[in-house]
Amino acid sequence: MFDVSFIPAFKDNYIWLLTRGQRAVVVDPGDAAPVQARLQAEGLTLEGILITHHHADHQGGVAELKACWPVAVYAPGNESITGCTHPLSGGERLEILGTPVDVLAVPGHTLGHLAYYATGRLFCGDTLFGAGCGRLFEGTPEQMSASLDCIAALPDDTLIYCAHEYTEMNLRFALAVEPDNLALRERIARVAALRAAGRPSVPSTLGEEKATNPFLRCTEADVIAAARQQNATVSGKKTAIFKFIREWRNNF
Ligand SMILES: [Zn+2]
Repeated sequence: MFDVSFIPAFKDNYIWLLTRGQRAVVVDPGDAAPVQARLQAEGLTLEGILITHHHADHQGGVAELKACWPVAVYAPGNESITGCTHPLSGGERLEILGTPVDVLAVPGHTLGHLAYYATGRLFCGDTLFGAGCGRLFEGTPEQMSASLDCIAALPDDTLIYCAHEYTEMNLRFALAVEPDNLALRERIARVAALRAAGRPSVPSTLGEEKATNPFLRCTEADVIAAARQQNATVSGKKTAIFKFIREWRNNF
């Protein structure tokens, strides 16, 4: 199994660095410079790039990295990705640094969005965030809700490596939805301490997300009640609640 560490990029992106000995793979290198600096500092050899979706802050560094390293680029086949060598659509099994990695199709934020699951570790780009989920730029609420169901079916101790440090802001919204959720209040305190110490709030675990992330809690009575308190006409159907909560978050 590879080790995982993060390379901060832009304002709040995390580029995940997977290493095994001196061999390295990066997930979503939106910027090449911090990746090159880290590879050089640690004497690592880049062997591959995993891309979750086409947004520039996830693939912007691929061309520059490929110019230096003749690497395989795994990416959604139905999105425009610079230098893609292995187009994927979900359902594939890859071998990354000697570790099996399952490719999951998780459309919603974008239509070709992929997540990569490596025994207990999920690299999910902009699909699931700490206490939140990605905006629906291309997909429907039904698609995103199904994608989150697919992630929720993984083991509870799965580590969730999302691509942005959005957790504190998301937790403020989660608390507006569920002011009586004790696990949520506990998480808010824990994340505040991590951030005050300059540390990332991710990865979280899937179990923690299920207990505190409103987008994974659309069948909970308190979440349904909160949605209905905002808008009495919203139906109790899971996808209707999801759609409503997502729109509420957009305007929060
Ligand atoms: Zn994105």
